[in-house]
Amino acid sequence: MNILILGSGGREHSLAWAVAQNPKCDHLMVAPGNAGIAKIADCVDLNILDGAAVLAFVRSQAIDFVIIGPEAPLAAGVADVLRAADVLCFGPSQAAAQLEASKFFTKSICDAAGAPTAGYGHFTDQPSAADYVRKMGAPIVVKADGLAAGKGVIVAMSEQEALEALDDMFSGEFGSAGAEVVIEEFMEGEEASYFILCDGRDVLAIGTAQDHKRVGEGDTGPNTGGMGAYSPAPVLTDEIAEQAMREIIKPTMAEMARRGTPYQGVLYAGLMIKNGKARLVEYNARFGDPECQVLMMRLGAQALDLLLACAEERLSEVQVNWAADHALTVVMAAKGYPGAYKKGTVISGANALPDSSSATCFHAGTAQIGANLTAQGGRVLNVTARAASLSEARTMAYDMVDQIDWPEGFCRRDIGWRAL
Ligand code: ATP
Repeated sequence: MNILILGSGGREHSLAWAVAQNPKCDHLMVAPGNAGIAKIADCVDLNILDGAAVLAFVRSQAIDFVIIGPEAPLAAGVADVLRAADVLCFGPSQAAAQLEASKFFTKSICDAAGAPTAGYGHFTDQPSAADYVRKMGAPIVVKADGLAAGKGVIVAMSEQEALEALDDMFSGEFGSAGAEVVIEEFMEGEEASYFILCDGRDVLAIGTAQDHKRVGEGDTGPNTGGMGAYSPAPVLTDEIAEQAMREIIKPTMAEMARRGTPYQGVLYAGLMIKNGKARLVEYNARFGDPECQVLMMRLGAQALDLLLACAEERLSEVQVNWAADHALTVVMAAKGYPGAYKKGTVISGANALPDSSSATCFHAGTAQIGANLTAQGGRVLNVTARAASLSEARTMAYDMVDQIDWPEGFCRRDIGWRAL
């Protein structure tokens, strides 16, 4: 079949890497892609937020299946345009993607579904929000309602910090995302991510992972898109995963279907685990980046069969063929990230790295310029390995990192520390 993947990050490179290994894939295209993806697929220039443009391209290339990687095209309704035209598509509708796009929407679904999550208040004016903060006290979590690229959440350790966060949000700094806020009870515990395919009716768990959000070793410094990840996440035991499925995921899916907006795609549940129980922190309507990279490395070619079964609403007919292995990915970023960084620096050695079913380097912000591989983004490479144990996978990944010569880049040296 002819397959189109939308996106250009390490997540999409890993999806392309897994899909391309499956004999069902005859021709793989990725829009817009990157320098690493260009080695295994045809990269095409396309505005992936424009449903009509994507549909026209799908028609012109006789594409059989579209996989949507990032949240922006989901929030823009690209999956709706494709499904309305009978194009087979992986990714939720705009209405279902509200589970990521609106914090208050998710809270109201949890209320209706009885899913365990932090207590909260929802406000559209600053004085009542500030009253609530004063009443509840700190620590407390202030969230802009809409998508704010990870910057709309303030975990406030003091009342003052929470009130200042409200000042920022109601001052218009977050655009329309800040006109509404959700204020949440601070939950203690250890966070882990749970990935579940949903076809509108049935669900299938496809793995657990933990990422490293802070830029510095020991989880210090500012938040980033993620500096590394590993799968499985030992803290998310089978028992807790089962509880999360029973009390959080399935009731959420049932409530979405009841409202006439069944969820079809991958549901990424961020969970807070304490005393053997999980509570929901947030949902995302797509794979995590870099969590996807470790999941794809563990799943390999079967990923395409699973995504297809999800899109064709026959998840009940398939199962995951698990290997008892561990995968780990180290993100290499441009120095300065998540603040200002230089673009266009040259990376040497990445093209000579191993590329096998157990070790590869996924690209994020890269471009090939003449003979040079260059860095064009903040997060640039995802060095990924799989082995029988997490410590072996980690050694393999860092051995590869050490073969890369990129003076303007850096990585965290402690990926996996929680599990090791
Ligand atoms: P992401 O970039 O992860 O998608 P987001 O902007 O959608 O972030 P959340 O995931 O809701 O926001 O929150 C970001 C982080 O803030 C969480 O990963 C968690 O560490 C912390 N956090 C959020 N809500 C709570 C809470 N109620 N209690 C404690 N920590 C929280």
